[in-house]
Amino acid sequence: MRDDIERVLIAEEVIEKRLDLIAGEIERDFPEGTLLVIILLKGALVFAADLLRRVARPLEIECLNVASYHGGTSSSGQVDFLDRRFPEVKDRHVLLLDDILDTGRTLHAVKQRLTEAGAAAVHTGVLLAKDKERSEEVEVDYTGFRIGDEFVVGYGLDYQGRYRNLPYVGVLKGEIAGI
Ligand code: 5GP
Ligand code: MG
Repeated sequence: MRDDIERVLIAEEVIEKRLDLIAGEIERDFPEGTLLVIILLKGALVFAADLLRRVARPLEIECLNVASYHGGTSSSGQVDFLDRRFPEVKDRHVLLLDDILDTGRTLHAVKQRLTEAGAAAVHTGVLLAKDKERSEEVEVDYTGFRIGDEFVVGYGLDYQGRYRNLPYVGVLKGEIAGI
């Protein structure tokens, strides 16, 4: 698996230090009470697990299955909600976590759904944000790292279902990603 990586973009220790800082910001920013964290599966799983253990606040966790990539290396342009049940968010302060902000369509669509469902506030956090023009402008409250416009894997992010368990963020070799 590691042989398929051309270069490590963000090392494990660097991610861990950044998560300490973001967790501190979250603790300061959210009002008293239990916050509701919504994790976008499967990409944000690793990021969320490592981040939330650093947040010393009462919180509840919900997960949403949303698809926009369908296993390839570019966005399909459509955001599909795959769950039959949508979490109860009315009057809740929500922290929405995704792995990476690319075109912005996913976060935009989910944030809109949460707002329509009556959330009191929706804060957003991503491990990575690609430096590029977005199809949908979304305000992100917590960004781990800004990266260039290239396809990355690891730390939750996959290519055709694999590489999510790499402890760092890296770039695949061209011959593996078929580019
Ligand atoms: P957006 O809707 O912002 O275009 O895309 C967000 C989703 O696309 C992310 O949740 C992620 O699943 C996928 N994605 C975008 N860029 C990358 C990337 O570089 N690598 C991987 N593995 N997934 C990506
Ligand atoms: Mg995803």
